[in-house]
This record gives sequence, structure tokens and C-alpha cells, in this order.
Amino acid sequence: MITRDECRACDADDPLASLRQEFLLGEDEIYLDGNSLGPVSRGAQRCLDDVVEVQWARGLVRSWNNAGWMDAPLRLGDRIARLIGAHEGEVLVADTLTFLLAKLIGGALELRPDRHVIITDAVNFHSDLYIVAAMARTAGREILVKTIDRDDLDDHLDEDVALVMLTHVDFRTGEMLDMSRITGRVHEAGALMLWDLAHSAGAVPLDMTDSGVDFAAGCGYKYLNGGPGAPAFMYVAPRWHGVLRNPLPGWLGHARPFEFEPEYDSAPGMRAYVTSSPSILALSALDGALDVWDRVTMSQVRAKSLALTDLFISLVEESMPGIFEVVTPREHQRRGSQVALRHRDGYGIIQALIERGVIGDFRAPDICRFGFTPLYLRFVDVYDAVSILSEVIATSAHLDERFAQRLSVT
Ligand SMILES: *Cc1c(COP(=O)(O)O)cnc(C)c1O
Repeated sequence: MITRDECRACDADDPLASLRQEFLLGEDEIYLDGNSLGPVSRGAQRCLDDVVEVQWARGLVRSWNNAGWMDAPLRLGDRIARLIGAHEGEVLVADTLTFLLAKLIGGALELRPDRHVIITDAVNFHSDLYIVAAMARTAGREILVKTIDRDDLDDHLDEDVALVMLTHVDFRTGEMLDMSRITGRVHEAGALMLWDLAHSAGAVPLDMTDSGVDFAAGCGYKYLNGGPGAPAFMYVAPRWHGVLRNPLPGWLGHARPFEFEPEYDSAPGMRAYVTSSPSILALSALDGALDVWDRVTMSQVRAKSLALTDLFISLVEESMPGIFEVVTPREHQRRGSQVALRHRDGYGIIQALIERGVIGDFRAPDICRFGFTPLYLRFVDVYDAVSILSEVIATSAHLDERFAQRLSVT
């Protein structure tokens, strides 16, 4: 079994090691939940201070013009474009993910007026399932949402399918799907492809352009570290600019918002998908959080992510054989940046770990979920987390009756 000293040696060789200093993390905790809520960075803190004390306090309403507030949704979109393999002008930061999915689903349905089926994954994130059902109900024509086993997608692709919506990395299991292959198959069937990148952006290399993706959207508060409830981002392939309509239009997506015209005339490019006033405080935290990403490539991030998840899986299996089912795929090309361990007492295990300073989360019914974020996690953190997990299992600390009652956020 790999030793703690060998993990320290890996940290000494790690080209990303210095980035940890950019985050405000307690030395007595190991944070394995950056896939749910990324931590605060010095960059985010700096930008928030500036926006409050200078731009808002002194600039007041003038800052809409003078501090670049109006352009922030597109400027931040350009910063995220680099991380997802898109070009400038193809990504917008706005709203939160479920709202952006609504916009993309509603717009996409109008592009395939002769087709009446949306396909999604039966085990997709619940918010995605709720919003796709609601957009289908309000589409103005009969739309059938088919929730399928994603492995059978090919069997369901026919001339009735308007849109396929899938989440690229499964939020429970951490399985990553083959974006290029699936997008290609969907296009062969004449349908449009919408990818949810909630657990992909900042976690795995992506290439919207090469993969031929039509539409995508993802979170700002997970691997991008934009803060609790941070705005989300959406991608629209340039071939759909000026074609895909925003089904939730608002004044700031108008070509001339300050003419106050009664008729809607969409702005060009990604600005068309803006609805309301951007949340400048939230955008500035995300802006600062993105600074650290300018210092890494996604291939560096991916290499370390795979090394961390490989290490975690092998330490768990060697030190606790037979205790957990490793649900996350072993093959690198099918793995996101998290590891899911199945255990019937998963909730108690996560709570016992949190009491010992190892922060993961639990996803019903039986998944212990651990996110691995290469910007601030060390190899030695993985080693220590598994040692603490072993101690919990060995002492049955997770069976304590205090863990019988679940908290509202698990
Ligand atoms: C986290 C997550 C969401 C959350 O969306 P919000 O509307 O931003 O709260 C949606 N879909 C998936 C797959 C997620 O993982």
C-alpha cells in the first residue's frame, strides 16, 4: 500500500501545489465537497471587496457604465469559454442552472416544430427532470418527455425526437459520458443536443466546438468556486446565434434596452439570452474565483484529478476490502472528478467523517460522495481522509444514534 511519505513526495512534485494558497481553507479540515460548493478564494474575496467598497459605494448607479457591470455576463462568459472549449462570444453567465436549462429547452423546441419528443436520462438530476417536464407542458403543442436508461439511447433516437438532454457527469455515480459520440448520434437522428455541465466545467476537459454540441449549461458554484448560489453559464453554438430564441425575454436581452420599446427585438449573439439585471455582487465573486483558472490548463487539472481519484479508490479497497462498492467507473475516460462509494449506512458514515474534519456528502439512497478538486487538494489529504474513514468503519462510529435523523442538506 502507498505510504503517507510517498503521498508527500507526490505533493512535492505537483505543479499545481502552490494554488492551494489562493483558497481560504482550514488546515484542520479536508474538503472533499468542492463538487457541491467550491470554497472561497482570495480572488473572490478581493473582487467582492472592490465591488462593494469602490464600485457600489462610490460609483453608485454610474458603475453600470463605468465599472463594466453591463458587460460582466459576457465578459465572464468569455473567461469560462476557455475552460469548456468554446470561443469568445459563445458563453453567457446569468441566472442559475435550472433557469438556463429552461431557456435552452424552450428555445430548442421551437427549432424542431415537426418533432414532439424530448429524451432525457431517468436518473438525471431531479431539477433537470422537473424543468424539462414543465417546459414540455407549456410548449404550446403536445410534447412527450421520455426518461430512458441512457445506455439505450440509440434505441430511442428516431424522427420524432426534437431534443436530447443529458448530464455529462452523473451527479451520483461520477460516470462521464462520451460527449462527442452521443452528440454525433443525436445529430444523425436530426435532433438537437443539450448537455448539462454541472459536474464537468472545471472538473474535466471539454470541447464544445469539437464535440459539435448545440447547447450546454453548467453551474458557477461547484468546481468554478463562484460562491453559494453563484450565477450559472450557458453555451450556444454560433450556428444557432440569432436563430435560437429566448423563451423568457426581458429588457436586458433587447437590442436597445434603454429605448423602452413595447415590442421585443432580440439583441444579437449571446446577449439575446439575458433576461434581467445581472446580479453584480454574485458575478464579481465568480469573476475573482476565475482568476486561479488563468494559471492552469485543463489537462493539468485532469491529470491530477485522475491521480487523486485513483489513489482514493486504491487506498479504500486496500485498507477496507469488501466494505464499499466503488460505483464510479475505473476507466479514466468514463470517470468525472468524484468518487462514489455505496454503503447502506452511507449517511452515518458521512456525518461521522464531517465530525472528524473530512467533508464529503451523501446522496440518497446509499451513496457517499467525494469530490476531488486539484486546485487545492493534496495527495496527503487523500491519504489522511482514507485513514479517518478506516477509523470510522473500524470503530463503527457511523452507527451512532445521533445520525439516525437526517439534516435538511445532506
Ligand atoms: C447542481 C446541479 C443543478 C443545480 O441547479 P441550480 O438551478 O443552479 O440550483 C442542476 N443540475 C445538475 C445536474 C446539478 O448537478
